[in-house]
Amino acid sequence: MSTAIERHARVTPGYEQRLAQTVLRLQAAAAAHPGRIVLATSLGAEDMVLTDLIARHRMPIALATLDTGRLHADTLALLPAIEQRYGLAVERFVPEAEATLHFVHTHGELAMRQSVALRKACCELRKMEPLSRLLAGRSAWVTGLRREQSGARAEVPLETTDDAGRAKFSPLADWSWADVWHHIATNGVPYNALHDRFFPSIGCEPCTRAVALGEDFRAGRWWWEDSSKECGLHVSAVTETAR
Ligand code: SF4
Repeated sequence: MSTAIERHARVTPGYEQRLAQTVLRLQAAAAAHPGRIVLATSLGAEDMVLTDLIARHRMPIALATLDTGRLHADTLALLPAIEQRYGLAVERFVPEAEATLHFVHTHGELAMRQSVALRKACCELRKMEPLSRLLAGRSAWVTGLRREQSGARAEVPLETTDDAGRAKFSPLADWSWADVWHHIATNGVPYNALHDRFFPSIGCEPCTRAVALGEDFRAGRWWWEDSSKECGLHVSAVTETAR
């Protein structure tokens, strides 16, 4: 089986310029929000590129992730890998234990397959509420959103303001999938082994599957739903482009 690097990494025109601009944008964001800026990493390929740049350029940007309790072992394996490679700890934000137990007891382990409402309730419990704690006390956050990821993300801005008034930076917005993998390949960036197994977009284990040739980037997310393929982490009614 070919690796994700073999399948996707290639040099495209403008890569060096995009890389340089991304570093400048991250440095400017860190300078504008001293001690109050965080990379909310999903531990996917894009966020590993950002982690690499933050570490390589010693930027004062914290790293944090939402450990939903339903992540793949391959995803969790990146936490010690990041610490070993870069000497950086990723802060984990987990769901409220009691509320999670109650939800599972009431609706079952696979509640998300029963209805869109229950799927959203699960995302609220395991992602949205922990995200609010992850962002508490921060004035800015960084994401790995790219415009190429889906139609819903085609207008992702490099910088915006979220509903709470925080600055939200997506410095890879104009990067291609080839750019991401070229950077990973040329810098030996650790990445999720699921990418080698045809998972371009990786979420929770029950809600993510591999995609087939020709399927959309996010086709493997909540594939049983005819929905927007968004969990709410990057959706705003007012100020942002929906993720
Ligand atoms: S992605 Fe699936 S398991 Fe994860 S929080 Fe959402 S519904 Fe729950």
